[in-house]
Amino acid sequence: MRKFGALAEHLRQVGLVPNGFHEPREAPEGWLRLAHSAAYVDGVNHGSVPRGVEKDIGLPITPEVGRRGRLATAGTVLAGKLALEHGMAANTAGGSHHARYEQGAGFCVFNDVAVAARVLQADGLIKRTLIIDLDVHQGDGTARIFEGDESVMTLSVHGARNYPDAKAASDVDIPLDDDTGDTGYLNVIRAAVPRALDGFNPDMVFYNAGVDPHHQDKLGRLALSDQGLIDRDWFVIDAVRSRGLPLAAVIGGGYGADHDAVGVRHATIHKVMTHYLVEA
Ligand SMILES: [Zn+2]
Repeated sequence: MRKFGALAEHLRQVGLVPNGFHEPREAPEGWLRLAHSAAYVDGVNHGSVPRGVEKDIGLPITPEVGRRGRLATAGTVLAGKLALEHGMAANTAGGSHHARYEQGAGFCVFNDVAVAARVLQADGLIKRTLIIDLDVHQGDGTARIFEGDESVMTLSVHGARNYPDAKAASDVDIPLDDDTGDTGYLNVIRAAVPRALDGFNPDMVFYNAGVDPHHQDKLGRLALSDQGLIDRDWFVIDAVRSRGLPLAAVIGGGYGADHDAVGVRHATIHKVMTHYLVEA
């Protein structure tokens, strides 16, 4: 949890938020129910999530955790709306991609990207969304929520041996071997991302820029360097923006005992977006 504060502090320190952050209000129940069952949303909002579900999530669902989930989700909705307005935006949280329709899982309470995609669709702002999920773990919750939904394409590139053991079926899944490294990883991204964009023809893109493929990550196995993450994010941004599409990013996973180091690593997406804006 402490990485979030470290990320925000780092972004301020390096001057990326001279006018302050856009701050969301908590996601209302009506938004959350676009991607989750009414029973689960009620459970989180009223502190009555069953013990077994809390175990799947890995956290006790206290009022604070519920509030955090609603704020992170609203942050991704806000990033989506800002991306539609300005071309690009990034949340400083979000990417809770293991949460599925009927419950959370794997440290994920609400599937913020799924909620955001559905809110923007319901508001008539977009029709077709591509979700590019490059967190080291499969976006299994997202894949399950949008299974059979032809208006949303899910692309997940992840470590084959990472959580979850039982993988879901995204529209495109690319499982990678341990220690894939920068070159092999970037070759995969450079093929898969343009193919998805041109094949699906979305009108906006959500991007889970999880930094857990990094070699120092406690949970990841793909052995990417700092530069590998920079090159990955740059490629995704350029692929999306050069096609004139709005891009909303979320930070996804990143794990380690050094919270400051993880927070700084998460700032990669915000820094690369800023560089892209300056250069493009
Ligand atoms: Zn992850």
